[in-house]
Amino acid sequence: MRKLLYLITLLSFWAVASPLARELTLNGDFVQGGLVVGKTLPGTQIWLDDRPVRVGEEGQFVFGFGRDFNSKAVLKVRFRDGREILKPLKIEKRQYQVERIDGLPPSKVTPSDKFLARIRAENAEIAKIRSIDTNENWFASGWVLPVEGRISGVFGSQRVLNGIPKRPHYGLDIAAPTGTKVIASTDGLIRMAEADLYYTGGTIMIDHGFGLVSVYSHLSKLYVKAGQFVKQGEAIGEVGSTGRSSGPHLDWRLNWFKERLDPELLLKQSN
Ligand SMILES: [Zn+2]
Repeated sequence: MRKLLYLITLLSFWAVASPLARELTLNGDFVQGGLVVGKTLPGTQIWLDDRPVRVGEEGQFVFGFGRDFNSKAVLKVRFRDGREILKPLKIEKRQYQVERIDGLPPSKVTPSDKFLARIRAENAEIAKIRSIDTNENWFASGWVLPVEGRISGVFGSQRVLNGIPKRPHYGLDIAAPTGTKVIASTDGLIRMAEADLYYTGGTIMIDHGFGLVSVYSHLSKLYVKAGQFVKQGEAIGEVGSTGRSSGPHLDWRLNWFKERLDPELLLKQSN
């Protein structure tokens, strides 16, 4: 009898759950640095913790969780017929690498004032591009590794110099010889192609739509210009050590607006 009750409970759960599954699917990594790609009915409105999320004409949407995102969030979904659901999300916390270095001369810890105006102007331009919300789901092409090489730096790691915590590292560093071709990981529109930024040297920013913007840094050569569209796999430049870099490598980053995402998770998703 108990078994039968259990079965009935299970069946009634299914009756409720399966129409919902057609109305809302979420695929991705519910973890700090993770990207989630969703699908819902056209005309649906979605909010992540009260923040509106763009829903495309076919019901596609994306959102992501930054390095230090809360462990809980709520997805509010309002269908065209007025029905509303609140879906609690659990976001897994991560442990990041912390490296402490003490006894450094102070000049190595704080950058010289001389460059501050330039750094500010460059950062403002980068932030502006990261705020662009393009209604194109170019990201749907999926993600591939932009260059083969040794992983030399990971997302989220942080150095503490003379007791002062520095900005965490948000990229995935891939070490490869200078001149190695770098390809676009995903389809998108080139929003920036600059040969010499202070921190990131030769820098390309690609808009993948819906607030997803990637950055490719320290390039020795750029093959593309701002305004140009690139397909996944297309060569965009060459590995280098330009800007503040200690050796030839590609620093590859991805944002969903201000949320910093971990590119390494995307590669696992695509495979
Ligand atoms: Zn890096």
